[in-house]
Amino acid sequence: MAGKIRAASTLQEAQLLVDLLRAAGIECAIMNEHLQGGVGELPFTQVWPEIWIVDDTERERALAVIAEFERPVTGRGGGACDRCGEDNPPAFEICWKCGHALTRV
Ligand SMILES: [Zn+2]
Repeated sequence: MAGKIRAASTLQEAQLLVDLLRAAGIECAIMNEHLQGGVGELPFTQVWPEIWIVDDTERERALAVIAEFERPVTGRGGGACDRCGEDNPPAFEICWKCGHALTRV
């Protein structure tokens, strides 16, 4: 049975989380993706993209993967984005927030 993991505040964040879960071998999908254009007409929270996993028994693992990703990064990670200044985890080649390619030293 499929289950909702969480909502994301942006489609970009949702896509990132989905990529993360898929990389961990968890089948998942973004719901509400097609509603992004309707912000003016619907209550805002209803148009937030949602991450759903195909197999709800993977929920614990999916949440762990996301928690690991969202843990505050200490030390040198993927580094601050040149464009928006957001700090990125070590494994990331593009900024999770704005999609800008991270340059490495
Ligand atoms: Zn950025």
